[in-house]
Amino acid sequence: MRFEVTILGNGSASPAADKHQTAHVLNVREQFYLIDCGEGTRHRMMRVGVSPLKIRAVFISHIHGDHVYGLAPLISSLGLAGKRTPLKIFGPPALGRLLDFFQNEFGQPVDFELDFTPVDPTSHKLVYENRSMEVWSIPLRHRTPTTGYLFKEIGTLTADSATQNRPPNYRPRSYAYLSDTLPSPKAAGLVKGVDLMYHEATFAHIDRRLARDTGHSTATEAARIALKAGAGELIIGHFSSRYKDLALLEEEARAIFPNTRVAAEGATFSVSLKKT
Ligand SMILES: [Zn+2]
Ligand SMILES: [Zn+2]
Repeated sequence: MRFEVTILGNGSASPAADKHQTAHVLNVREQFYLIDCGEGTRHRMMRVGVSPLKIRAVFISHIHGDHVYGLAPLISSLGLAGKRTPLKIFGPPALGRLLDFFQNEFGQPVDFELDFTPVDPTSHKLVYENRSMEVWSIPLRHRTPTTGYLFKEIGTLTADSATQNRPPNYRPRSYAYLSDTLPSPKAAGLVKGVDLMYHEATFAHIDRRLARDTGHSTATEAARIALKAGAGELIIGHFSSRYKDLALLEEEARAIFPNTRVAAEGATFSVSLKKT
């Protein structure tokens, strides 16, 4: 009964030899979802042992290269691997044009449907649901239309479905993905009480002017948003290539929100079951 996030990349737009670009794999009870798809995502998935064929849906936050440049190779790999069922993709409306190009103009046609649903980056709405999970859009503040996502388990997890014993039922778990963005108190309100929050922390607070000018957040600001939201745990990531020692960013955030972890590449962050 896992509910966990694996970090494939923790870098931002400027390339760094020791960082990959943004992508997360969310595992909700052995159903896998990809969140953003930076350059190299296909290789990163191989490295952490998640087959692209397992991905049920892809959620894209915005159309900056470090969040979408991995889509074409991923789609190509799925075709080579024999995928025939539709791939659900969610993201800003303009993403549809990019997907049309991949599907129709890119040499060998893709043999499966790219089932794209545009997400309005200005509204908080339910964008996807199945029997075990809901996904809500979270409007963010960036230089281009950007949406975060709130992933929420639904339905009662019964003792039978969780363990072989018979303890009480468990409460649903949640994960908020907030990147890229200036700090947004409104977003904090929309994810109130979330168990696990990922918030970008591209810069240290000493570089806050850079953060403001580029539509990003500092580690301090990410921690303030986690505090405001009453999050259980904060993961910070999307680091500028200028920082070699990520512990400094972690310490900065921990001074405000002690339960902060750095999004180390390859690391998995789990939300454990809690009784109601
Ligand atoms: Zn970015
Ligand atoms: Zn961006």
